[in-house]
Amino acid sequence: GGMIGGIDARRIAALRADEAEIFRRARPKSQARTGNGIAGFFGGVPMHWMTDWPTPFPILVDSARGATITDVDGNRLDDFCLGDTGSMFGHSPAPVARAIRRQAGRGLTYMLPSEDALAVGALLQERFSLPFWQIATTATDANRFALRVARAITGREKILVFNGCYHGSVDETMVRLVDGKPVNRPGLAGEFRDLTRGAKVVEFNDLGALRAALKDRDVACVITEPVLTNSCMVLPEPGFHEALRRLTRETGTSLLIDETHTISTGPGGYTKTHGLEPDLFVLGKPIAGGVAASVWGMSEETASRYAAYIRTKEPGYSGMGTTLSANPLQFSAMRATLEEVMTAENYARMDRLAALLERGLKAAIARNRLPWHVMRVGARVEFICAPGPLRDGAEAEAAHAPALEAAIHVALVNRGVLIAPFHNMMLVSPATTRAQIGRLVAAFGDVAAKLAA
Ligand code: PMP
Repeated sequence: GGMIGGIDARRIAALRADEAEIFRRARPKSQARTGNGIAGFFGGVPMHWMTDWPTPFPILVDSARGATITDVDGNRLDDFCLGDTGSMFGHSPAPVARAIRRQAGRGLTYMLPSEDALAVGALLQERFSLPFWQIATTATDANRFALRVARAITGREKILVFNGCYHGSVDETMVRLVDGKPVNRPGLAGEFRDLTRGAKVVEFNDLGALRAALKDRDVACVITEPVLTNSCMVLPEPGFHEALRRLTRETGTSLLIDETHTISTGPGGYTKTHGLEPDLFVLGKPIAGGVAASVWGMSEETASRYAAYIRTKEPGYSGMGTTLSANPLQFSAMRATLEEVMTAENYARMDRLAALLERGLKAAIARNRLPWHVMRVGARVEFICAPGPLRDGAEAEAAHAPALEAAIHVALVNRGVLIAPFHNMMLVSPATTRAQIGRLVAAFGDVAAKLAA
């Protein structure tokens, strides 16, 4: 009973049931092959989140090209999920596909640099204005390694995260606030340590709490996204990033900016567009156009302090690296992505179409008098089924309406549109067309009208 996101819960349940039936009818082949679980995999899927989607069973994909996914039943979907940012530049961008084909005949991993590595080093320096880089395979790993550097150079154990953050499956970031108290994230499996001993957690946009948490000078590193994107989207308030930088500098705390999602802002990420000055910088997901790769960069000062630190250590395992990291396939794909895909022209187009999407969604919300709002960071757009803007992680958590979001998600799939599964996130790629934006806005308007009726 009751209302969820301004909508009667019974109406949401009825829509969900109707749409589930429509979904099933359109996908007999998917249902036959994934509906009872895929043999050989725990839980019936190779990655648990494939069953966490709100559809009755996973869509079995035949192929994806540009911003379109085709399933084995022949249904075409306008893809605004784009692998939750991994394929933010479209599926198989032509320059990346060419680079992969070329590298396929030249060896895939050899623990030695290729000529593409020479180009990528220079491209990263120029693009992100940091002098020293390392390559890893996931954003999770890049964050882990960068945090290790921060602890090494500060000689401090603790890190600080903002409530509602996500930085991948990095153990020490898996904390949150419950009623103002830091706790291990409740869903965390097999964790016996009290992670709050090594991590402080404060609310985003709360400079008083941040100042208090840093004043004892026992925090090695603040790790944050420029904008919180992993719950409902929360923008920094004016002056927040300046104060964050000032407070971290004053207390000798490293600042790690995780651009993995906010690279939607522009070719150099939110950092470049807004003039942030991180000591450590992380970017994963789309940096190699969909091939698993991530990069992490250090400022001049951080790098020289780390170099000095290493000289004091016995040689041995640093706790960084994985065997396949910095392989030539990653370099070929990264080079193609940086040189030919993450271009100013592509970003201008993404931004233009994302603004069109934002306007269309806002108009549909207003037309149907829904208490919802829309947020956008460049090519990344989100509708939130609660009033906004949201100020911090606690408000973002409270704004979630899982049952409503799930019903909308399935209803959009049935109207030919795929958005991200666990929040209402939509990405505009260079391959996304004006017609696709039009179809998403129309589908959203149709579902909104049904819910508001
Ligand atoms: N950082 C941020 C900001 C993320 O959103 C994510 C994943 N959603 C990660 C890091 C981790 O990326 P990966 O799962 O590819 O390691």
